[in-house]
Amino acid sequence: MTLLLDAPTTGTVVPGTPLPVVGAGRLVPVAAGTTAYADLDVAASAPALVAVQETVTRAQEWYASVHRGAGFASQVSTELLEQSRERIAAFLGCRPGDEVVLTRNTTDAFSLLAHCLPADVTVVSFASEHHANLLSWRERGDHVLLPVPAGPEEAVLALDAALDALPGRVLVSVTGASNVTGEVWPLAELVRVAQAHGARVAVDAAQLVPHRRFDLAALGADWVAFSGHKLYAPYGSGVLAGRADWLDEAAPYLPGGGAVRSVSTTDQVWATGPARHEGGTPNVLGAVAIAAACRELEAAGRAALEEREQALTALLEEGLRGVEGVTVHRLWPAADRIGVVTFTVAGWTPRALATRLSAEHGVGVRHDRFCAHPLVDRLLDCVPSAPGCADVDAGTAVRASLGVGTTEADVAA
Ligand code: PLP
Repeated sequence: MTLLLDAPTTGTVVPGTPLPVVGAGRLVPVAAGTTAYADLDVAASAPALVAVQETVTRAQEWYASVHRGAGFASQVSTELLEQSRERIAAFLGCRPGDEVVLTRNTTDAFSLLAHCLPADVTVVSFASEHHANLLSWRERGDHVLLPVPAGPEEAVLALDAALDALPGRVLVSVTGASNVTGEVWPLAELVRVAQAHGARVAVDAAQLVPHRRFDLAALGADWVAFSGHKLYAPYGSGVLAGRADWLDEAAPYLPGGGAVRSVSTTDQVWATGPARHEGGTPNVLGAVAIAAACRELEAAGRAALEEREQALTALLEEGLRGVEGVTVHRLWPAADRIGVVTFTVAGWTPRALATRLSAEHGVGVRHDRFCAHPLVDRLLDCVPSAPGCADVDAGTAVRASLGVGTTEADVAA
């Protein structure tokens, strides 16, 4: 099975060039006929790597039930699932004893963690979070939302002050990199402050892991969540990885077959480990796809990928800044950031601009408020989130985002 996950693929890597992604070079209709599609919406969903697609196709040859069948194909499928889990754990720098629970996406991962929280735990996060790392906690109740910080140092100081004022058990849930402005958050410092107060930390790494190496053990955080579809795997798979205790003590997130050891007519003994929260048949191909993406990113060299992306991001931002009327919006202009550039253009609504970029130039970008309304309100100094605001374009922007498959031509377009 190791052979299957490690088998060479045709999507091999040439250093300094984009990694081969599914759909590269596709033509799309534009006003003047057709043109090559420039996918600059990678932060929303990244196209699968060709090598991921090939691995998934091979894995399908062994399509069979997992953890429930004695047949050879079932054994192979089970082995593939568990080896994928191990690879994902290694990719994330998990500690021995950490659990890797397969989820549908990051939103599901946070929902699962919220479900598992002991009742006395207060959750602290910043208002700049993606809604996935905001509404999961708000739904639950004890959620303290800190204002969007003016800089990384302010973020650390604000957390320190908030934790000073919270005597009980706390979970700090914070993003690794912003999906709106791309800033990489000062995770090491935030974890240090949290630990000094005895608080635990969950990291929303949906945007961070596709762009940066992540090491849960070295960081000392407690959980990490991300989505396969942002990590060059197809839709529908995600991960929550980290400490087992709260997960094993909570009621199953998705009760059913697989989540249970034995069932009588009146009672049941729930499984522990990832199975406890993975009721029903898991997304085996999703796990295989994520593991294959982890393998490919590591094989290509994370530092080399980052260097290339930084160069393209700088090119994109410089190019945009050179266009009359463009404002690039950054939360912390001096901070390190991933390949995300959010901007507005005087005289254009973001909706009209994004539509025109697609219709006339074949450029795919995202517009609106990027599922992070409080942050975008703050960034654009506008509060369309206030109830009653009827202007759908108020307080919105355009986001262009890059990944390992992005070409110079995409940026030029
Ligand atoms: N967190 C961040 C930082 C994101 O960018 C996103 C998606 O855009 C999410 C969480 C939610 O991911 P998903 O929609 O895959 O659940």
